[in-house]
Amino acid sequence: MKYVLVTGGVVSGLGKGVTASSIGLLLKECGLRITAIKIDPYLNTDAGTMSPFEHGEVFVLDDGGEVDLDLGNYERFLDIKLTSDNNITTGKIFQHVINKERKGDYLGKTVQVVPHITDAIQEWIERVAMIPVDGREGPADVCVIELGGTIGATIFSRHNESSILDAGDIESMPFIEAMSQFSHRVGSGNFYLVHVSLVPVLNVVGEQKTKPTQHSVRGLRGLGLTPNILACRTTKPLDDNIKEKLSQFCHVPLENIITLPDVTNIWHIPLLLREQKAHEALIKTLNLQGIVKEPLLEEWSAHARICDALHDPVRIAIVGKYTGLSDSYISVLEALLHASTACMKKLVVDWVPSSDLEDNTTLEALELHKAAWKQLKGANAVLVPGGFGDRGVEGKILAAKYARENHVPFLGICLGMQIAVVEFARSVMNLQDANSTEFDPHTTNPCIIFMPEGSKTHKGGTMRVGSRRTYFDVTDSKSAKLYGNPNFVDERHRHRYEINPDKVAEFEKAGLEFVGKDETRRRMEIVELPNHPYFVGVQFHPEFKSRPGKPSPLFLGLVEAACGKLDCLPVNAAHLSNSPKRAMSPANAYENGNPKKPAKSFSHRKIFPNANGVHV
Ligand code: GLN
Repeated sequence: MKYVLVTGGVVSGLGKGVTASSIGLLLKECGLRITAIKIDPYLNTDAGTMSPFEHGEVFVLDDGGEVDLDLGNYERFLDIKLTSDNNITTGKIFQHVINKERKGDYLGKTVQVVPHITDAIQEWIERVAMIPVDGREGPADVCVIELGGTIGATIFSRHNESSILDAGDIESMPFIEAMSQFSHRVGSGNFYLVHVSLVPVLNVVGEQKTKPTQHSVRGLRGLGLTPNILACRTTKPLDDNIKEKLSQFCHVPLENIITLPDVTNIWHIPLLLREQKAHEALIKTLNLQGIVKEPLLEEWSAHARICDALHDPVRIAIVGKYTGLSDSYISVLEALLHASTACMKKLVVDWVPSSDLEDNTTLEALELHKAAWKQLKGANAVLVPGGFGDRGVEGKILAAKYARENHVPFLGICLGMQIAVVEFARSVMNLQDANSTEFDPHTTNPCIIFMPEGSKTHKGGTMRVGSRRTYFDVTDSKSAKLYGNPNFVDERHRHRYEINPDKVAEFEKAGLEFVGKDETRRRMEIVELPNHPYFVGVQFHPEFKSRPGKPSPLFLGLVEAACGKLDCLPVNAAHLSNSPKRAMSPANAYENGNPKKPAKSFSHRKIFPNANGVHV
């Protein structure tokens, strides 16, 4: 096993996760099998309890792991499926060591950060690196490890020039020490360090400044880690003299100083790394010359190129709570991008804060209210993503009502599906106080209820989370067709509440169709409105399994419907302004009378636009 450690210096938010994913992809294109580990030095056991406001989205894995969003980047870039152990946190490591101590595994010894915590970190990495993640047997060739936070970024006190640590540095220490020991343990031919740093430009003189990077590399060296490559984030490519300076002061060969300037889309990053031959140095140091090929990245460069060239917009309104931080919905955003690129449309996302859609009284709120409705009404489709807590829920309900009544394509994900059902109950079935018991525990019309898989009395650990199966009972539904008419699909879940099974018959009578259910047929997984161009709600999160070139079918359906290209548009929707045309995507394959196939599960169809805009 070869290990590539990716660290970050100077400031956070440099795109370390995307850089780590891109290095993985470049190596994958060289013919190597790749796995990835993310280290988050915070004390939380996992990301499940962390606010998307602060940390961005909680990514969900097949095994129910609630993890850092960077694992989503790894899965999307590398087309792999990770496990919750691929996300290491201080919480997990300490819990592991303390459990061992309680069991008596260290009997007689004083349990210390060094060596017990640092050993546990190294053992964890070696164990997890061996888990196959690409659907093939046996371990990967290379494990990319990303160390969260910034390291070696010492802050110098203005008064005495001595370095002081910030809080993040303290938490990172055991991991840095562990990685430093690890690099010696596995040997230099098996360990490679990529340090992502910032080279800022001072506006006054327009000069690229190397000092912050110098400091961070010095800090890194002081902690026992030597970078092989410096990946420098800049606004424009590094000047040659700046590269020379960095090489000289940081003791990194000139050819290993890589520039990562701002790009139009993240798919360019692997291409930038390849152009600068980052893989060549890596392969040489890790002694992999004999087994690798030249990385072509053909599909990837087509993605990047096409994405840049698209100009015909498709406007999608995302109605949510965390619209101020796009990282909160990063997988939804990526899935939309995959789908719109496949449809040859330029994705324009209109972020609509759901609470602004609600009636507000103050003058300032009125302006926001008007702006939110203007945005919603200007969109070609509406997406209500998942969420927790009652803030903005009524605004989401209004958005669903607007989409339903005005035949605007709608996709409701998890909470987005639940509120669409509540809206239907209120408006169509006239159940005025219909609600989810999450928001109104005393409603006389509980449409969405607490349905834990485990205990009914304890909330802790009762989340239905991870991959679950959905069976298609209505084969001519839009979703079944979009998925390619499988008998079932496996998608990822993260919720506690569900459609009240005792109300299903009533809902169906009023016109809602439950086209996908779990194996007990008690849990409703997919709901559709038949007389609507595209009104789909799903209890699961299809965004987590969407990939570039293999968009999630339900996102593809939404974007196609938004462009008026979804062939399953009902005849009575022909009056809509964007009336249906022949679709150029494979989604129309199901119109051509695809025979019902024998039992099979779903795997995302590969959809990739060629230069003429035709999907192949
Ligand atoms: N809060 C809802 C539930 O727990 C929806 C969760 C979600 O959207 N992920 O069921």
